[in-house]
Amino acid sequence: MDRLFLFPEPFPDESLYSLAVRYHRLVSNKSYRQTSRELFGTYSRTCGSVIPCCLGALSQRLEGQYSVAELVETRTLLPLYRPFLSEQAYESAILRMQGTHGTGLKMSLGMTASGLLKHASFRYCEACMQHDSDVFGMPYWHRIHMAVGVCTCPVHGNVLLGANFPEGADWRSMFLPGEFASEPVLSTPSLDAAFAVADMQFWGLENPQQACDLVDGEFLRWRLTEMGMVHRGRLKELAIRKFLEPRLDPGNKEVEYQLVTKGFEWIMCLLRRRRWTIQPFRYYFLCWLLESSVNDLREFQRRAFSYLPEPASAIKHASRPDEKMVAARRREFKRDISERCHDKLGYYWLYRHDREWLNNYVKHHRFIRSREASTDWSVQDARLSKELVDARDKILDKKGKPIKITKSAVLRRVSAQYRFLREFSRFPKSFQVLEGVLETEHDFQIRKLNWAIKKFSPSKRCATSVIMRFAGIRIMRVSESEVDSLFFT
Ligand SMILES: [Zn+2]
Repeated sequence: MDRLFLFPEPFPDESLYSLAVRYHRLVSNKSYRQTSRELFGTYSRTCGSVIPCCLGALSQRLEGQYSVAELVETRTLLPLYRPFLSEQAYESAILRMQGTHGTGLKMSLGMTASGLLKHASFRYCEACMQHDSDVFGMPYWHRIHMAVGVCTCPVHGNVLLGANFPEGADWRSMFLPGEFASEPVLSTPSLDAAFAVADMQFWGLENPQQACDLVDGEFLRWRLTEMGMVHRGRLKELAIRKFLEPRLDPGNKEVEYQLVTKGFEWIMCLLRRRRWTIQPFRYYFLCWLLESSVNDLREFQRRAFSYLPEPASAIKHASRPDEKMVAARRREFKRDISERCHDKLGYYWLYRHDREWLNNYVKHHRFIRSREASTDWSVQDARLSKELVDARDKILDKKGKPIKITKSAVLRRVSAQYRFLREFSRFPKSFQVLEGVLETEHDFQIRKLNWAIKKFSPSKRCATSVIMRFAGIRIMRVSESEVDSLFFT
């Protein structure tokens, strides 16, 4: 295998394709074919994709300077999909991206079936292009600009420009932003949804673990509950439809957005997590439909995983709408016969715009909990602690390649996951147990190595590198003596 003697230093949020283009120019190669052979050892058909393959070969040529996991996490769009995939599906996607055959990869992520790829293009922001030329000496492709549904730059707010290839050319022409004719991807320069969705997707891409917590903590369901659209754990479909229909704006002329603004069915399927892998664009667009911004996502995540009290600034009242509207909302709220104020129609709206009145109303209409008031939290805590240990054991007992014991992996297997994430402080014992069952990278590697060794003939000592590759380990966190001792246990 040929070692690469030079490779460009990646710029912030630079895509893998962009790095390949810069390498191509650095060594003055004549064709993409030659560049692909040097970088990937083969003719890669996915280098221009946001989910490229052949990363194993590239990592080896760079002699581990960047592991496959690092390349995936920092140079591709897979992290954006992470919250919506099971651990297994995510690992399997990485394995495919490591190998040379990416067939079916986009299909397994639900990208093909979603129909959202129809409008994908090579996009850039003029302000970013200017900035990158000034600071880094050249423009480059930002991976966030390539995400489906990102039509404006999350940094500058400009509508992105989509490159039009001249006849007979495609990404294999190895070009950088601004080198081909291009046109804006939106005809409406100030589409609220586009700004919000771009911001949220950028946050999701940069903070995949926080985005996992958001999805696992059922942010959307929490939001709907706040808005009075969940009653006794059930979605109030009619109320949801009534609220969303005007926001869906079916008259929208933006082709990329027509895919998500036409029809209501996908929303209920997404909320019930049915049928397909959730597409990040749809998820974050629905967050926007439910009047959430990137700050709400951050705030939810912060509240779910810390005990910090709400900052005083957050308690400030939002700007007040006109009196007629307020009066109508109050009437509607009072008419709703739901027992709990939180479940009443318009609770969330009043919470934002008329909080003083709402607080006063809630004070005089307290819901007397008949059974829940007597909830014995210590019993619940003990039950959840046991479930957490059982979940850990289930992961350990799983046949096949080991799965890492992460917070998400464990919590997905317990029944009170939602409650735990929302009411963290009521589960002190479970919190400790959770901390205790999580696995360090070192312990996980030991488990993977053990598994890999057992898969080979135990009597035959294989090369450590073979075992490591089989176990999917790129950067070793285990000492050589520990590996040796594993061979003889
Ligand atoms: Zn920009």
